[in-house]
Amino acid sequence: MLSNFVHRLLFVKEFEIGEGSTEIIGTRQMVVPLQFMLSMQQADPDKFYQYMHSSIQTYFSRVQLELGEETYKRMEEVFDVFGLGKLRVVDFDKANFKALVEVHNPPICIESGGGHVCSITTGVLAGMFSQLLGKEVHAVVNKCTARGAQNCEFIIK
Ligand SMILES: [Zn+2]
Repeated sequence: MLSNFVHRLLFVKEFEIGEGSTEIIGTRQMVVPLQFMLSMQQADPDKFYQYMHSSIQTYFSRVQLELGEETYKRMEEVFDVFGLGKLRVVDFDKANFKALVEVHNPPICIESGGGHVCSITTGVLAGMFSQLLGKEVHAVVNKCTARGAQNCEFIIK
């Protein structure tokens, strides 16, 4: 099943595959195995966090996502499209620049075997929320499936 988000991107020609190139919203992509991402993350977790933070923030600025009724749905769709797990925004306190989110079925944490985890997901969440709030915020792991929790939980502030 192709998500609605991908359908919309295809419709406005912001998702193109062909001639040896895959592009989403003007940025070339490569689909790589999860294990490759894991080894990259383990090599330098802080660098990975910073990279995901800034690239997703740029990406969100290009899709011109603004706070509104559809916001959570768009964020969930981005998680779907990039294979990051099933996102659920539990609480979003815009006035105080704070949020609590859950990720169900997180690929990175499930595959990591309990090592240093979630640099990718925390970076993506920090980038998304920083762009939405117009203020630099960071994401930290509150609970993680790699440490026995049922879902991963993140605090953004
Ligand atoms: Zn986790």
